[in-house]
Amino acid sequence: MPSVAVVGGSLGGLTAALVLADVGCDVTVYERSASALEARGAGIAVLDETVRWFAERTDTDPDKLCSTTRWIRFLDRSGGVVHERDHPYRFSSWNTIYRALLAELPAHRYRLGCEVTDIAGDGVLTLGTGERVRADLVVCADGIGSAARARLLPEVTPTYSGYVAWRGTLPETELRPATFDRLSDAITYQVLADSHVLVYPIPGPDGSLEPGKRLTNVVWYRNVTDLDALMTDRTGTLRQVSLPPGAARDDEVRRLRADAAELLAPVIAEVLTAVPEPFVQVVYDIEVPRMAHGRMCLIGDAAFAVRPHAAAGTAKAAADGWELAASLVAAGGDVDVALPEWERRQLALGRDLLRRNREIGDASQRYGTFVPGDEKLIFGLRGPGR
Ligand SMILES: Cc1cc2nc3c(=O)[nH]c(=O)nc-3n(C[C@H](O)[C@H](O)[C@H](O)COP(=O)(O)OP(=O)(O)OC[C@H]3O[C@@H](n4cnc5c(N)ncnc54)[C@H](O)[C@@H]3O)c2cc1C
Repeated sequence: MPSVAVVGGSLGGLTAALVLADVGCDVTVYERSASALEARGAGIAVLDETVRWFAERTDTDPDKLCSTTRWIRFLDRSGGVVHERDHPYRFSSWNTIYRALLAELPAHRYRLGCEVTDIAGDGVLTLGTGERVRADLVVCADGIGSAARARLLPEVTPTYSGYVAWRGTLPETELRPATFDRLSDAITYQVLADSHVLVYPIPGPDGSLEPGKRLTNVVWYRNVTDLDALMTDRTGTLRQVSLPPGAARDDEVRRLRADAAELLAPVIAEVLTAVPEPFVQVVYDIEVPRMAHGRMCLIGDAAFAVRPHAAAGTAKAAADGWELAASLVAAGGDVDVALPEWERRQLALGRDLLRRNREIGDASQRYGTFVPGDEKLIFGLRGPGR
């Protein structure tokens, strides 16, 4: 089997490294962060593919990494229930899944502080340290701002969707008892004019799944015309993809809280106005015409970055890795044979997911056709609920 260099050690890169090592590849992950990626992001809805590694290859029960909810519930402005459906979901936090995946990979296969500054067509990587390494296959899992994509496909640029996600978490201990009761066993939505907001419980910072000891995660999709104004942080720096916790300017946070108090159902407003450091992720569409380039391939957000409405971003990243391993096995380890077939399947998956998410997002944020309880809103990688 080929030697593999994985560029980027987040959920996509880690999953790819694990499944490729499992089929006999000699794998090393190069992650630019100098320390283990602990403080990243907030909640994620978890689909089977995201935790497939644990289900199929370990004794770890995926349910031990995820909070669960029973209900999908839509509230109106007054807090009344406009739609409710018994449909279980799993949620986790980026940190929880990351820690669990990282623990599965032998330490010598995961190199922190290794920014990849150049990738040559023959599989030679140059690291920020000046070191050069060679691999038979280079898997680029370097995320939405992928330098590998920019180099291989300079014509592909992110398309701004017209809206951002304001996000944050709050310990369940800080909720009023009635609010906790309303939110703790559901994903709770509210549909507003050209917008929607959702709330769900995720594991606590220590991984606790016990109701009352978890975090409440909130995501509010808001249309933003003057993106540069929002994305200019409190130090005056213009950011492209996200404003991490603490970076948004006070005037923007004040406006968010005032709008939450005015527009949101009381239980959702209670969460949003109390989140100490709300943060922003800009929602982009990125579509690539190719994922394989010689002995290199793009996976996860480095290839297709899709809007989050099907909650399938990490599942797609994981699926790219699993399918790559399967294609290599089928090709007897021959990279040149494996990649074209793999690319054909994963391009189709990425295009379909991009289209579905765009439709859901536009129905909410542009056309006002986003209906509580619509079957299309059920999370899924390959279709609603699938
Ligand atoms: C608002 C919002 C909500 C979301 N909700 C969900 C959800 O509920 N469920 C879900 O599954 N997904 C969700 N997603 C999507 C999900 O976050 C992404 O799809 C997923 O994180 C992509 O993983 P990745 O490994 O491809 O990239 P990333 O997580 O972006 O990781 C890229 C890694 O590469 C590293 N890197 C970058 N450049 C270099 C370099 N030159 N050298 C070395 N390392 C490098 C970075 O440090 C980083 O660790 C959401 C996204 C958004 C914006």
